[in-house]
Amino acid sequence: MPPHPQSWLKPLPEGLFCEPGKFFIDPVRAVPYAVITHAHADHARPGHAHVLATAGTLAVMRTRMGAERAGVVQQEIAYREPIAINDVTVTLVPAGHVLGAAQIVIEYQGARAVVSGDYKRQPDPTCAPFEPVKCDVFVTEATFGLPVFHHPPARSEIQRLLNSQKMFPERTHVIGCYALGKCQRLIAELRAAGYDAPIYLHGAHMPVCETYQRLGVELGELRPATVAAKAALRGAIVLAPPSAIADRWARRLEDPVVAMASGWMRIRQRAKAGGIELPLIISDHADWDDLLATIREVAPEIWVTHGAEEALIHAADKMQIRARALRLVGYGDEDAA
Ligand SMILES: [Zn+2]
Ligand SMILES: [Zn+2]
Repeated sequence: MPPHPQSWLKPLPEGLFCEPGKFFIDPVRAVPYAVITHAHADHARPGHAHVLATAGTLAVMRTRMGAERAGVVQQEIAYREPIAINDVTVTLVPAGHVLGAAQIVIEYQGARAVVSGDYKRQPDPTCAPFEPVKCDVFVTEATFGLPVFHHPPARSEIQRLLNSQKMFPERTHVIGCYALGKCQRLIAELRAAGYDAPIYLHGAHMPVCETYQRLGVELGELRPATVAAKAALRGAIVLAPPSAIADRWARRLEDPVVAMASGWMRIRQRAKAGGIELPLIISDHADWDDLLATIREVAPEIWVTHGAEEALIHAADKMQIRARALRLVGYGDEDAA
């Protein structure tokens, strides 16, 4: 009998620990050996001695935290290239979440666990699509683990944005979006929809976009957006962090249409409370249907790391899938920032 992952993959205060591999996955504190699923700040923390991740994840980590803090030893591995770490074999497989994002496939004495990190099933022109891997235990997120969360195709949300721009050609459309992943995906989706004018970026969004471009993701012409030169932004599309929308940076633009791109925009009251005129339901996380379809596809047992775990566990029970909450502390949701 292969050893059940429960006996060798353990939630500790630092994060999920693979005992026979002697490494943590996305630890929330500095550790000797970390395997990192993706570069969002709650998953990729600074100061580990040894970091194993994809080239994309490590490049974005260096951009965001500086080369030294991204890990004393930074070991890049390609997708689908198994490597031995102590007594286990580890393979990184695309998670479809952001550039470089990987599911961590761990094999030990014939048992296989997959730690998804954050993931989505919708297409995204800026990263490799999620690949389902059959396993004994699937460790899943549940950011949008409630039936109310349904993400429409990004293309149709982008079309709503472009329609609004056509209707109000004199106004500046400013879109709140997270700096890593969402921002670049919006730009790439706009380009795919035929929008070829320069796109303006709040200063906080420039570095990661440049990293994406350096890694070969086409984003077209990007320009810095400064409130001082707001006349030049009339009729333009401007991307800014959600915090800049909240702290009224966006409102200093000329007659702005304030938009927000997030899975949370499904909740109308949330958009209204944030003063969002144009809510765009675009998320880099799986929605309810995709969470259910994925767990049904890959595993007879799931462990839920963070998000709305109760509803997902209840739904899994009904599908005869064993489920448990790991209650890991320290993981948030970049979308809600
Ligand atoms: Zn994430
Ligand atoms: Zn997360």
